[in-house]
Amino acid sequence: MVQDDVLLKPMDDRMNTALNPTTLTTHPAFELIRCAPIAALSAELYEFRHRVTGAVHYHLATDNDENVFLVAFRTQPMDSRGVAHILEHTALCGSARFPVRDPFFSMIRRSLNTFMNAFTSADWTAYPFASQNRTDYFNLLSVYLDAAFFPRLHPLDFAQEGIRVELENDQPVFKGIVFNEMKGAMSSPTDQLYHRLAHYLYPQTTYHYNSGGDPACIPDLVHQDLVDFHASHYHPSNAVLMTYGNLSAYELQTEFEQQALAQFQAGERRHSVPEQRLTAPLQVTDVYAVDEPDLTAKTHIVMAWLLTPITDVATRMALRLLEGVLLEDSSSPLRHYVETCGLGQSPSPLLGIDDSNFEMTFLCGIQGSEAEQADAFEAGVLAVLEQAAAQPFDPAHVEAVLHQIELNQREITGDGMPYGLQLILNGLGAAIHDGDPLSVWQIEPLLAGLREQLQDPMWLPNLLRTHLLDNPHRVRLTLTPDPDKTERDRLAEQARLDAIAASLDEPQRAQINQQAADLLARQAQEDDLSILPKVGLVDVPAELRVVRGETHTLQIGGQTEAQAVPLYRYSAGTNGLYYQQVLINVPAPLLNTPLFSIYSSLVGELGAGEWDYLTLQQRQTAQTGGISLGASLRSHISDAEKISAWLVLSTKALVDHPTSTDADHSAMSLLRLAFEQLRFDESERILELLQQRQSRWQSRMASSGHAYAMQTASRSLSGLSAHEYHNTGLPALLWLRAQLAQIEQDRGALDRLISDLKALHQQVLALPKEFLLVAEPARLNALTTQLGTTWQAASSPTVASSSAIAAPNVPVAEADLAWLIQANVQFCAAAYPAVPVDHVDSAALMVLGPYLRNGFLHRALREQGGAYGGGAGYDGNACAFRFHSYRDPRLAETFADFQASIDWLMTQPQQAYQLEEAILGLMASMDKPGSPAGEAIISAHAMLHGRTPARRQALRQAILAVTLADLQRVAALYLQPSLRRRAVLAPYAKQAELEALGFAIERV
Ligand SMILES: [Zn+2]
Repeated sequence: MVQDDVLLKPMDDRMNTALNPTTLTTHPAFELIRCAPIAALSAELYEFRHRVTGAVHYHLATDNDENVFLVAFRTQPMDSRGVAHILEHTALCGSARFPVRDPFFSMIRRSLNTFMNAFTSADWTAYPFASQNRTDYFNLLSVYLDAAFFPRLHPLDFAQEGIRVELENDQPVFKGIVFNEMKGAMSSPTDQLYHRLAHYLYPQTTYHYNSGGDPACIPDLVHQDLVDFHASHYHPSNAVLMTYGNLSAYELQTEFEQQALAQFQAGERRHSVPEQRLTAPLQVTDVYAVDEPDLTAKTHIVMAWLLTPITDVATRMALRLLEGVLLEDSSSPLRHYVETCGLGQSPSPLLGIDDSNFEMTFLCGIQGSEAEQADAFEAGVLAVLEQAAAQPFDPAHVEAVLHQIELNQREITGDGMPYGLQLILNGLGAAIHDGDPLSVWQIEPLLAGLREQLQDPMWLPNLLRTHLLDNPHRVRLTLTPDPDKTERDRLAEQARLDAIAASLDEPQRAQINQQAADLLARQAQEDDLSILPKVGLVDVPAELRVVRGETHTLQIGGQTEAQAVPLYRYSAGTNGLYYQQVLINVPAPLLNTPLFSIYSSLVGELGAGEWDYLTLQQRQTAQTGGISLGASLRSHISDAEKISAWLVLSTKALVDHPTSTDADHSAMSLLRLAFEQLRFDESERILELLQQRQSRWQSRMASSGHAYAMQTASRSLSGLSAHEYHNTGLPALLWLRAQLAQIEQDRGALDRLISDLKALHQQVLALPKEFLLVAEPARLNALTTQLGTTWQAASSPTVASSSAIAAPNVPVAEADLAWLIQANVQFCAAAYPAVPVDHVDSAALMVLGPYLRNGFLHRALREQGGAYGGGAGYDGNACAFRFHSYRDPRLAETFADFQASIDWLMTQPQQAYQLEEAILGLMASMDKPGSPAGEAIISAHAMLHGRTPARRQALRQAILAVTLADLQRVAALYLQPSLRRRAVLAPYAKQAELEALGFAIERV
């Protein structure tokens, strides 16, 4: 889903009082264990131990002002009742110093955080946050420390977040946020696959169980279990504290000590235990739920090996190298096998090393297969491994994988999650299992060790033999589709509820009803939020920081100076990488086909020029950080029917890599070649890629059900909405499936598809190009020269194709529409026509979304309705205002709640602080930093789409000036009942109910 990205950053109000890391001193409650510089990250690691409790504190000192905090506990439940996960939720529902009902969600609204969340992993639970604002950081630190160490764990919060029984029409039903969250999560085939595999691969340790909670087991959990689990696990002696940024460790430790640790004595520290080893490989068959009638090609086959603990850092790095030589790209032998073996439709999502548990695993599988192929697949995989182990690996291929490891290490990311938090999460596995996180952050000594061992050409093949071929702890899982599983699970739950119904006497029924009434009263209660610390709009910087580049020109393909094309150059701290893009403005008619996104996915995946796809894949691994073609689409700023469309051809590379300055072997020259000389003669490869695309799409669908529901609801409200719905939405999935079915009947259909793709490519080749370059300032000039040289020679002659592309002209439907999918919860959406982003009302509509969510929808949809999530928001690309729910057990009631939020705004007294919170949240998300290169690229793209700094600044000012009266005015104007369009993604079993509610039905 695209959002209207507005990149505005504060200049002032940063962490201006931070101490220089060299002046760090240790708080007396802690002892300094060591200090180590990490050159590649421009950071220093400090490791401390709390003297009384033994709590460990790792501090990554950098000059980055986006400071990060994380506290993690070793949590290893020995059942699937979800105790760790439900505790993670409930700990955030009020604590000793902050006894309000919902401090976590309240703080999200009173903060300028750049990240707030909590994670339950298989063997740890962690509470991280990040902020660029000093006051805000310490506010959040207080709330987090108190929540983790002194939560209230109120029985009604357990009932709300975890599991409870309520009586509906006098019949018992299960309710609870985690209960529904896990029902939604476990309806994903990939999750079922992973958990069934772990069940057999780990017969005795905590990984045997589902730490998130199995919906069949969650009802066994009671409140006292939660209290006991907290007491035995959330102790400083069992904790790891991790911080990143430019605040001083001393200052942080002062808060840790005063607000939490001083109140504890030494407690129990838990340790990870190795799994009991299998003495011979295991072959097992199990089932997962598939509710559609066609069961062909729906079997997963996965092989898994249990490896060494992640704390064995040298082996961990060696296995990462082994994974690379086997799987890095399509030319690597094992990936080549799973992509081309013909036994399934595509590689399994479980592929490669999984180092998220104490002991690592190696996974290799296929999906879209049949159970009877399992023997052939296993034999094929083992044959590939035997062959690989019999001789040295190609040194050039090994070198290419080492290059990828180094590039990944150096690249500063942070566009999804704060960079510092990513580093911390990378190191957390080692830290939590008594290993050394420094080995994850500072890999140079380990790489040097690898190079040493690679002197022996048989070292890597022998490693393969030891850890894979000769390792008896191997499981082969064949997971077949079971059309009755959903119904069986439902009946089992119903039987359980019937037994409860039969056992209830009147006092017990009264008690259940009393609890439901108490919970409702508690949810409705207005807390005294003044207990919680806050920042306000005064803390939002008025000054904006806009990442600015400079526009140069570039003469390409024999152009004269007058014909030169724009080159946008940006300086950024990229840690030795450069990023280069070719930007191609696409006219609207070319967009109007599902072929367009298929076409763009082929660049880098097919061969080009002299090279077949295998060679091109090898060269990408050796020379670049990847090559890709993607689309950047926005609605026109003032015309809802117009689309601003650019194709973006991208690569990145290490500036100092040996091939970088070689005109024939640089990433830049490979990018040009891979695009301009894209080959369409590898039809088997194209078919493979289409099948992989279909499988991936289907397996990811349920996790973005809310996005598809919103896209469906707003499909007629802007030109871009219509384009995305038909060309990348669920209709495009059906289109792709139909194409593949036709190709199976008639190979001529593949040839026709390929010739359409080729025609599209010819048209794209003829379009004018612009260029983007991001690098460290000292490198920009040399890279510009190189870019000019790369593109100077005339392009291979391109002729605009005469054959027009078949553009399906789909009539725009307005009906309320439901898509039936493989799921056991709903995703609901309602959309109202709104305005393009440049319209004067867009600011008030933007504020209206979080205002309705904070003030009404969060309570109605999540706390009371039991949905995992939900909200509302204006989207400048859809030119719509949209409501949505996520993993929702309800349907009609949810739509009623969407409407009720509007009624609440129009008829109930509204509070000024709620307006401030809504604006604050928008500001925090707009000001969220990205990676240095990511910010430059986003800024350049914003310009291309007409989102100029002046417009973005004006929008920010308009948002800050929105009043309560504005919200009521735009709600009355735009959110009229007659304008509403509804859409739902729902399980197949909901068809009759949806029809009764007036929905047209489509099936995936
Ligand atoms: Zn959860």
